[in-house]
Amino acid sequence: MIDETVHRLPECNCPACDKEISAATGIRVGSPPPTAGDYTVCSGCATLLVFTKSLGLGVIRDPAKLPNIHPDDLAEIRKTQWAVRKFNEGEPN
Ligand SMILES: [Zn+2]
Repeated sequence: MIDETVHRLPECNCPACDKEISAATGIRVGSPPPTAGDYTVCSGCATLLVFTKSLGLGVIRDPAKLPNIHPDDLAEIRKTQWAVRKFNEGEPN
């Protein structure tokens, strides 16, 4: 279930596509605001990003190579990336 809670972030740009990012939603209900080391998916290019200490963003090229990532989290990331790409293509479902 997608958490509709929107967390405002310091404005920054996606390091992959340069889209301005100023907010993030959690992947679980009641997710706390993101902290350093948390992941997010860019709503512009679907690239997996990681929050830095200053809540800036770094690019993760291959999510499968992340150390210690839980398979459920990886599945959630893949699902979110798929949804973003579909949304941006403007295709119905
Ligand atoms: Zn992007």
